[in-house]
Amino acid sequence: MTELLTYLDYNATAPVRPEAVAAMAEALGAGGNPSSVHGAGRLARRAVENARERIAAAVNVDPAHVVFTSGGTEANNLAVAGFPGHHLVISAIEHGSVMAPALMFDPHATIVAVDADGVLDLSALEHALAATPIPALVSVMLANNETGVIQPVAAAARIAHRFGALLHCDAVQGLGKIPVDIAALGADFVTLSAHKLGGPLGAGALVLANGAAPRPRALGGGQERGRRAGTENVPAIVGFAVAVERARADGAAIPTIAALRDDLERRILAAAPGARVIGAGAPRLPNTSCLVMPGVANETQVMALDLAGIAVSAGAACSSGKVARSHVLAAMGLDDAIAGSAIRVSLGWRSNAADIDRLVAAWTELYARTRAKRAPRAVANA
Ligand code: PLP
Repeated sequence: MTELLTYLDYNATAPVRPEAVAAMAEALGAGGNPSSVHGAGRLARRAVENARERIAAAVNVDPAHVVFTSGGTEANNLAVAGFPGHHLVISAIEHGSVMAPALMFDPHATIVAVDADGVLDLSALEHALAATPIPALVSVMLANNETGVIQPVAAAARIAHRFGALLHCDAVQGLGKIPVDIAALGADFVTLSAHKLGGPLGAGALVLANGAAPRPRALGGGQERGRRAGTENVPAIVGFAVAVERARADGAAIPTIAALRDDLERRILAAAPGARVIGAGAPRLPNTSCLVMPGVANETQVMALDLAGIAVSAGAACSSGKVARSHVLAAMGLDDAIAGSAIRVSLGWRSNAADIDRLVAAWTELYARTRAKRAPRAVANA
């Protein structure tokens, strides 16, 4: 990722940490299939198991309960589709990698509402479970990727367990930004992803808090104790572990990131009447801001900022690169005009005050330009 860019799209992916790059290069150079019994295989196995132990320690679980996957999407799919016969109960703001398999595997899945700040409605969850006659799996994310709003996962887990249901938590956006202690979360399954915190793309894990596993989807070689077949991506797994540890070591920088984000919001709100911060009334990730520039389409904002060398995203950029209507903002009751003019700014380990200065300057310049176009022309005196 070029250093010249003002990169403020960490919730899409974070720049890879140099320590992770170095460790991955070494693992790639070493080669070896962790399932081979010879020396090269044993070395690769040791690298994988060492990474598993380090990641497990960071999130407070037994290493045997960490199942490596190709990323957050696969881990979410594994959990959500892994309990045939269970009724699925998911929050209205889940990522597509929870939402799509839930609706495919349980066309009658219950979608639980969030409030105007984007926080899960716990009494609606309770009602949904009370009305569910069969075993259920609940899925609630730790923090939303578009708004950064943190969800009451521990409370949701207590409710789910009271009704005999299982609880899965997509913690992809939380890891590296807020503490993720799986025992404290109370979830039965937790999804992690490497690339949101400075690890490589294409690596993640499903953590089985109690050891019970969903039905496997990838079958074959019996890797990952039969829970996910396929030769492990050793370099990516090694890079994942290094990134998790670096992110933990950088924990002291989180208040600085939060201060930069707060400064950004203060300056935008002061400069632009009508601007607003979505989800500001709820606890949020320290790095995320969902900002509305009234009357200016988010696509226009993203393009104008891109021209100024600043990378941000519209809340819901899908894989086609097009901007889709945000189901998250719709679930919060925001109308299309507001939702369609919201962008997501997300900071991370390399962000600094100059990035915020550049963003504020470009954002306010665009705001002024769009207002000037709309202002009625002065009528010349006859
Ligand atoms: N869950 C959330 C909340 C996300 O933001 C993302 C990535 O955008 C994912 C899951 C998917 O993770 P991955 O990109 O590792 O497949």
